[in-house]
Amino acid sequence: MQMDKRRKSILVTGGAGFLGSHLCKRLLDEGHEVLCLDNFFSSAKSNVEELMDNPRFELVRHDIVFPYYAEVQEIYNLACPASPPHYQHDPIHTIKTCVNGALNMLGLAKRTGAKIYQASTSEVYGDPDVHPQVEGYWGHVNPNGIRSCYDEGKRCAEAIFFSYRRQYNLPIKVGRIFNTYGPKMHPHDGRVVSNFIIQALLGEPITIYGEGQQTRSFCYVDDLIDCMVRFMATDNEFTGPMNMGNPCEFTIGELAEKVVRITGSSSKIIHEPLPGDDPRQRRPDISLAKEKIGWEPKVALEDGLVKTIAYFDGLLKSGWTR
Ligand code: NAD
Ligand code: UDP
Repeated sequence: MQMDKRRKSILVTGGAGFLGSHLCKRLLDEGHEVLCLDNFFSSAKSNVEELMDNPRFELVRHDIVFPYYAEVQEIYNLACPASPPHYQHDPIHTIKTCVNGALNMLGLAKRTGAKIYQASTSEVYGDPDVHPQVEGYWGHVNPNGIRSCYDEGKRCAEAIFFSYRRQYNLPIKVGRIFNTYGPKMHPHDGRVVSNFIIQALLGEPITIYGEGQQTRSFCYVDDLIDCMVRFMATDNEFTGPMNMGNPCEFTIGELAEKVVRITGSSSKIIHEPLPGDDPRQRRPDISLAKEKIGWEPKVALEDGLVKTIAYFDGLLKSGWTR
């Protein structure tokens, strides 16, 4: 049988998660073989249910804290809980996932010669005093606060990736993802977009933490996945770190108003205490992504919210309960 030479064997860790499940679908649609590893800590198999019948898709329950052996040509290392309540639930395991997981996946990349992408984060900038955030900014991170298991875990993962690059010249790609939202976010994950939408649809109070003046810049998932795949396709000289996100910045108060308006909800807005070390502002400078891969987001927040609200509405109508 003639094999398509463009077909690659690709490993996606965290492939059943929010971003991972969209990435697996995109890679399958492009004709690749996808091996999805996940320990289902912050996701459910239902995210990849629609992919299970595809003979080019394989789902394996595995925790990347432990080594894994496979023959692959590309690795996307996405495994790690991304929502603050999830990554703070078991902070030691979050650190192990970031650090041991990076070492294990880089070991695999070194043996197989695979190109490897690391899902880094805007959290490496902490509570930034440079705004918007450029890749050259080293950040302002509390090394021992409640977010540090994730922030410092991801910073250490970047250090490990760049050390492998220097020592073994591995083809690495480090992409710093800013707040991304869309269908298949876990309804329980506690992130702001999913929380607000579910609260609005159920007519429950919308919980703004603090005064709601803190800002975030929200990227729709399809734009982000496009950026990730294009980044991976660049030549081995381009490693990043590269910001990936939507530079349109909103206060959390503005987000709440938009969700209430689009859903037509009768929910009231209430204020709850701001969690520790919550960054006050966040907006990516995406000049590098524009220059290197000709990418910029296409989906405006309102349009992305409409699609995400339709997804959660469907979930609630299918019988999902809190
Ligand atoms: P998610 O929680 O929906 O998905 C993460 C997936 O990784 C889940 O399926 C989870 O079960 C799995 N996982 C966690 N620990 C694991 C382990 N030790 N071994 C194997 N699987 C494990 O989160 P997401 O939003 O899809 O984020 C994916 C990646 O992107 C994460 O690395 C996250 O840090 C990064 N990121 C996401 C955002 C965002 O806004 N979505 C922003 C910055 C960075
Ligand atoms: N947030 C909020 N209400 C919620 C959940 C989150 O006001 O129900 C705030 C949170 O304090 C933060 C922002 O929304 O300022 C984004 O939170 P999220 O957990 O989505 O991501 P991160 O803080 O990691 O950017």
